[in-house]
Formats: sequence, structure tokens, C-alpha cells
Amino acid sequence: MADIKVTLAAERNTPPSEDVLGFGKIFTDHMFVMDYITGQGWHNPRIVPYGEVPLYPSAMVLHYGQAIFEGIKAFRTIDNRVAIYRPVDHLNRLNRSAEILCIPKLDVELLHKGLNQLIDIDRQWVPAPLGTSLYIRPFVIAADPYIGVKVADHYTYFVILSPVGAYYASGFKPVKIKVEQYYARTVKGGLGEAKTPGNYAASLKASEEAKKEGFTQVLWLDAVEKKYVEEVGTMNIFFKIDDELITPELNGSILAGITRRSVIEAARDWGMKVTERRIAIEEIYAAHSQGRLREVFGSGTAAVISPVGELSWQGKKIIINNNQTGETSQKLFDYITGIQQGRVDDKFGWIHE
Ligand code: PMP
Repeated sequence: MADIKVTLAAERNTPPSEDVLGFGKIFTDHMFVMDYITGQGWHNPRIVPYGEVPLYPSAMVLHYGQAIFEGIKAFRTIDNRVAIYRPVDHLNRLNRSAEILCIPKLDVELLHKGLNQLIDIDRQWVPAPLGTSLYIRPFVIAADPYIGVKVADHYTYFVILSPVGAYYASGFKPVKIKVEQYYARTVKGGLGEAKTPGNYAASLKASEEAKKEGFTQVLWLDAVEKKYVEEVGTMNIFFKIDDELITPELNGSILAGITRRSVIEAARDWGMKVTERRIAIEEIYAAHSQGRLREVFGSGTAAVISPVGELSWQGKKIIINNNQTGETSQKLFDYITGIQQGRVDDKFGWIHE
């Protein structure tokens, strides 16, 4: 495996206090960088001071969006260890995104080693207060200075780190969601299964309109029939109908969430029935009118679990579980965050120190 060259920053900054963290605004002292050139492969892995990077205005990524990324979190446990949550699963998903975007595959073992070394160097930036974390953003961009649509020959892989505040500063609050009937995030055969900038660009308009109408986010339906549920904002979605958890199956237009996987694994381990299948919005509304829709929640790295208190579809509004956080949502949140903070036995091996 290639050696990782380390150049330390001449001066170290002082990590900020918890109250100014917010999300994604502050970056640590160092970053990981690696290059790719056709013929040479991935080379020159290095840790360098965080800062501006040289990029031509003609860099292909700026014009044609050939890029992929990940979002991972590291936590300071209650006994002061640093725990990264499912890093290898995230890095494998980066490679799946690479495949979809025609980006050359990366060596997950090297990426994992680089991640550990980078976090070790900036270890004092992992915040300690409950709910805070170090957000890890690996990404790849097409760097050729070239105008024209084609698969690039030059890429750069980066990892940057950002200490972030607690998502739920004032406790769990069920959110209001608009079922999006017009816009589509992605289509089957498109890029939906990849974590790539274009999908997020495609979500902005719908999300802005929903916010103007007083909703927190949108629930995406399939792009073709506008009938089957896909994701909620930038989270996967779960419905508890009677005693069963149902989540849309991975059909090519849904991102395979790592938190989604944790929810499925934990709930099955507790003896709950968990089903991955196509589910129509009509079926959700029918279950609600029969009094069988007990909980709805999103799952994702940022919030872990986000309870949904209200759905609005073509002007028809339903209130879920009295707009209160459900028992399963709460239990999953406590369990997953407990493992992340080192308070609960990590029986699935999700944590890498
Ligand atoms: N769907 C989309 C579109 C997302 O951006 C995310 C966040 N990465 C998720 C689902 C949830 O995935 P994860 O649990 O891996 O964060």
C-alpha cells in the first residue's frame, strides 16, 4: 500500500466551543488529498494543511458535474475515545458511486487508513458534548482543464473534516413534510443510487417551494408514476404500520443509506418485522385512515432519526401519532446514538476506533 506523506500545518488553530459549531462551517487544520491520472492510477496520497486548492476554471467538474462524495461521522465517546461510525460501509458506497459516475475505483483499505491517520492528527477537533460530532467529507472531482463532455482522465480525492453541533439542540421535534407531486429528484436509470452533486442540485427547487409553503422538507415519489414513495429530503424513510416497519426497497433511484441499514439490522434484532418493498403513498394514506399508521420517520447520518409528524399530499393533510415522537423512533435514536457515544454495547461492530 502506498505511503501517506504528512505535511503538518505550521500553526494549529484552537477548536471552537460547542455553541458556535453549527453545521459544516468550520474546518480542521488538515486534509487528505490523492491524485489520479489515467495510466498512473491513484497516487501521491498525502495529508497537508487545510486550505485553498489550485483548480482551473476549465476543470471538468465545474461544468459537467462528474463528482461523488460521502458523509461520515466520528464521535468522542463518553470515555474519551474517538469512534468512527461504519467507515468501511461509507467508503464502499463511495466506490459504488464511483462506478455509476465512471470514476476510477479507489482502494478502500488505503482510504480507511488515510481517514484514521487524518482524524488522529486532528483528534483534538472531535467535540465532546453529547450530540456533537466530527463530520467527515470524502469526495472526488474530475480535474482535467477541458471543456467537452467526456469521462475525465484526472481526478482528485479529498477528505475534509468539520466539527458539527448537535442536530437536536432542543430535543426531538416531528417535522411537517410535503409529498412532492411535481418535481423529481432522480429517475430509475439515472443517478439516484449515487451520492453525486447533481442529485442535490435537482432537489433545491422543490425543497425551496416546500419551505415557502411552511414545510420542513419534501417526500419524493418515483419520477415516472408519481405513486411510490422513495426518500424524504436527504434521508431514507420508514413507516410503522401495525407492528411492521416498511421502507422502500433499493430500486436504483434511492440512495442505500447506512443509517437505513442500521435501522433494519437493529429492528430485526429486536424481533420486529422489517420489510423492504415498493410502497404507494395511497397505501400510507389508507393505513392512516384505518388507524394503522403508527409512525413515520426519516433516517440519515445528520439527524440519525427524524420523526415525521405531518404529511401533506395534494392538499390532503394527515397527522401521525398525534404529532409526537413514536416509541420505535425514540428507541432507534437512543440505540444508534448510544452506540456512537460508547454508552451501548456495539454488538454489530459499527464503530471503528
Ligand atoms: N438519501 C439521500 C439522498 C441522502 O443524501 C442521504 C444522506 N447521506 C441519505 C439518504 C441517508 O444516508 P445515510 O444514512 O448513509 O446518511
